[in-house]
Amino acid sequence: MQPWTSPPVPVLPGRGPALRLHDTATRQVRPTKPGHTARMYVCGITPYDATHLGHAATYLAFDLVHRYWRDAGHDVHYVQNVTDIDDPLLERALRDQDDWVVLGMRETALFREDMESLRVLPPRDFVGAVEAIGEIIEVVGKLLAYGAAYRIDDPEHPDIYFDHQAAAHFGSESGYDEQTMARYSAERGGDPERPGKRHPLDALMWRTAREGEPSWDSELGAGRPGWHVECSAIALNRLGTGFDVQGGGCDLIFPHHELSAAHAEALTGEYPMAQHYVHTGMIGLGSERMSKSKGNLVFVSRLRADQVDPMALRLALLSGHYRTDRPWTTRMLDEAVGRLNRWRQAVALPTGVPTEDTVRRLRAHLADDLDTPGALAALDAWATETLTRRGRDVNAPVHLQAAVDALLGIVL
Ligand code: ZN
Repeated sequence: MQPWTSPPVPVLPGRGPALRLHDTATRQVRPTKPGHTARMYVCGITPYDATHLGHAATYLAFDLVHRYWRDAGHDVHYVQNVTDIDDPLLERALRDQDDWVVLGMRETALFREDMESLRVLPPRDFVGAVEAIGEIIEVVGKLLAYGAAYRIDDPEHPDIYFDHQAAAHFGSESGYDEQTMARYSAERGGDPERPGKRHPLDALMWRTAREGEPSWDSELGAGRPGWHVECSAIALNRLGTGFDVQGGGCDLIFPHHELSAAHAEALTGEYPMAQHYVHTGMIGLGSERMSKSKGNLVFVSRLRADQVDPMALRLALLSGHYRTDRPWTTRMLDEAVGRLNRWRQAVALPTGVPTEDTVRRLRAHLADDLDTPGALAALDAWATETLTRRGRDVNAPVHLQAAVDALLGIVL
């Protein structure tokens, strides 16, 4: 798929400390240690509905990782998928009497527009499941041949499942006990009750063709792929194993990321698939989590249509720490508008107070597991000082603008 257009990214003098991120698997904030090319995979959307603020907050968090690594001199190979064939897409198309292909294309186009307006740097590889079907079939075929996958005993629908015991480190990504895994599997699209499986936690890899559903011919039989193997195939074929960051919302910790990692381990014999598993908190509305089942989604495209400045929206979502579950309120947006105005007033002055220390603090906060509240406070301090005592540095306004753009993706 064609990713969206990249905004320009200013190059700043100097470097910050190594980026430290929280890793779900080790439950620690640890330094990332990318080579010349930093490798990141972030799970993409299932395009059956517009991008809501929870999605936006997730992609913004990983955009900060992308930007920080670039600032540190790395080339960043960022891969993101689009799950453009899966149950939720087919269910929505059926409900709305829509064509699933058209629905997927329409919502993917809207997602691109949303990301571009928020100035999210695009992935180098933006890959739809449909265009990766051949790769997925190859992975499933190999896992069958290795004995890590099996067909269930169902003459009508002999679907292929992954034997989760084929991965020695199964469970190490989430750290969940079996009871918790079983609960999340049932809640998040798994099918622990499906008859014929060897174990309730075994995951669907190839769903044989059903009446009225799209399917692809293959040596596995006509069918369509499961979700976890889609991400394993797309990630491994572009990034190899042991890449730097696997990311997504915290609802992907289990089963999605655990199973994707297990598929990769069974396929390659190597562990881990990713050095860091990084998960974002949930954005709520009032006291509730924002989710499609609760019908309380706030869409980025809706706010854009209401003339909300995307930079204020970006700033509002960055005002909380990415790992905290946090509610979305109009007050957050109002505060972001006020903050943006103060910063813009300050950089519009011909001179300001020197920026070196502010940029150093900005980098240090971001390097500390993306401490955006700290980063914003450092910029607030600069703006207040410049507005109250002006300063004499003629380069300060331009330098500060460049730093805020490069590191936070915000244009003043
Ligand atoms: Zn994924």
